[in-house]
Amino acid sequence: ASQFGITEALEKLGVKATNLGTSTGSNWFANGTTISSYSPVDGALIGTVQTTTAADYEKVMEAATAAFKTFKVMPAPKRGEIVRQFGEKLRYYKEPLGKLVSYEMGKSYQEGLGEVQEMIDICDFAVGLSRQLHGLTMHSERFGHRMYEQYHPLGVVGIISAFNFPVAVWSWNTALAWICGDVCVWKASEKTPLCSIACQNIIAEVLKENNLPEGISCIINGDYKVGELMTQDPRVPLVSATGSTRMGKIVAQTVAGRLGKSLLELGGNNAIIVTPDADIKMTVIGAVFGAVGTAGQRCTSTRRLIIHESIYDKVKDAVVAAYGQLRIGNPLDQNNHVGPLIDTDAVALYNKALQQVVAEGGTILVEGGVLTGAGYESGCYVKPAIAEAKNSFSIVQHETFAPVLYLLKYSGDVHEAIEMQNNVAQGLSSAIMTNNLREAEAFLSHAGSDCGIANVNIGTSGAEIGGAFGGEKETGGGRESGSDAWKVYMRRQTNTINYTTDLPLAQGIKFDL
Ligand code: NAD
Repeated sequence: ASQFGITEALEKLGVKATNLGTSTGSNWFANGTTISSYSPVDGALIGTVQTTTAADYEKVMEAATAAFKTFKVMPAPKRGEIVRQFGEKLRYYKEPLGKLVSYEMGKSYQEGLGEVQEMIDICDFAVGLSRQLHGLTMHSERFGHRMYEQYHPLGVVGIISAFNFPVAVWSWNTALAWICGDVCVWKASEKTPLCSIACQNIIAEVLKENNLPEGISCIINGDYKVGELMTQDPRVPLVSATGSTRMGKIVAQTVAGRLGKSLLELGGNNAIIVTPDADIKMTVIGAVFGAVGTAGQRCTSTRRLIIHESIYDKVKDAVVAAYGQLRIGNPLDQNNHVGPLIDTDAVALYNKALQQVVAEGGTILVEGGVLTGAGYESGCYVKPAIAEAKNSFSIVQHETFAPVLYLLKYSGDVHEAIEMQNNVAQGLSSAIMTNNLREAEAFLSHAGSDCGIANVNIGTSGAEIGGAFGGEKETGGGRESGSDAWKVYMRRQTNTINYTTDLPLAQGIKFDL
């Protein structure tokens, strides 16, 4: 990794140390046991991080709740200015942070840079939004009365994030939460702790330069038990959790048990429908990038290709041929297309999925397998695989977080394909490849895709910041990022003002004294 400038990147981000523990420069208290972060790229130990104890957590919450008192009364556009400065810092740190993301998580350096770019984009979006946190005004039924609604800051927002977007997901939440006047406590994935500390160091610089309390941004480190401190805590009115559906069900129930709010961004099982009117060249690029990008570890990764029988062989041959061109290896080396999986547990799940699809009657079209030898010492590099399968197979119904693509055939009209695409428990991203207006409109209509994201002639991945991001059903129903996703980070208040000398009651109720 040294040839790719990792050591310099760690130094620049302030995360080059043998053991990272309580730091005075940023609001982070950690005196617990240590977790080690190994790179899936080369298997090397990047660093160890101390975890947050229950006592540390109390200190964090004290700092966060105290900071909320000052932050919530700061005018929203002034908070926007802080987020603007944060975006500037991210531009400055883009290269080292992109490298750290690539090295600690394993995605390609280009995708690591892309993740930091998403952080910059959400900051830009949030800066403008800080002057537009508007409610509605409505007409009162009573004479001489005025009614309107306003949005107020909510409090401490708890963020739980997954390993696969180790920095961007945090910023989608924080950039909006901060302009909304909230303060944030972040429990990052225990698989990517250094990314979280690097981000915390960057925002701590901004807060210090503006003489703002450190508690506006806090991190806690450790596994699910540290996350539970937050999901059980009534001082955290909103928990935004990104990760598996299994985790989401537990978090949702815990938070609901204390009547808190949760914003859930969970697993996907995303399909591209390929109709007889599809542009095959575009289909192949969209499908292959969607299936093998980030080694199939995107929540929006393409897992199913639903292809019409009339073009099935043509699409199959083109996709299989494209897989033959893929170069698998160190993701920091820009000649490679596919990097490693996050760890050897993920490799075991990938192997199991390939065995299961065969056991259920599927046919392997592109062999998988774990790579060994020079450059593959971490044991995390696998070959992207393709299998012919049926939508009803239990493995196809399941999200395997690895580069395994299932080809499914349909023979009727587009409605049959839509039904197959909808017939899974998850509802995150979906796409159709077609030049036929009727098919495209049917797919986007109320009788069409049941997913939070539905695309025409692009793949399943690649959401932009301006739209709301999230999915239905077992994906959790939450929306983050653009559009009006900010509203979940605020509390809504309806106000009625009487500017007369009478006190008429609503609904014409008479109450004379
Ligand atoms: P995971 O569910 O194993 O862990 C996610 C986070 O939840 C981690 O920080 C973990 O420590 C924490 N956690 C787990 N159990 C918890 C509990 N009971 N209480 C509190 N916190 C708990 O997921 P992962 O393997 O890191 O990520 C992969 C999954 O995330 C995939 O299913 C993927 O689709 C999903 N994902 C979804 C989105 C989206 O926006 N919909 C984005 C990225 C990832």
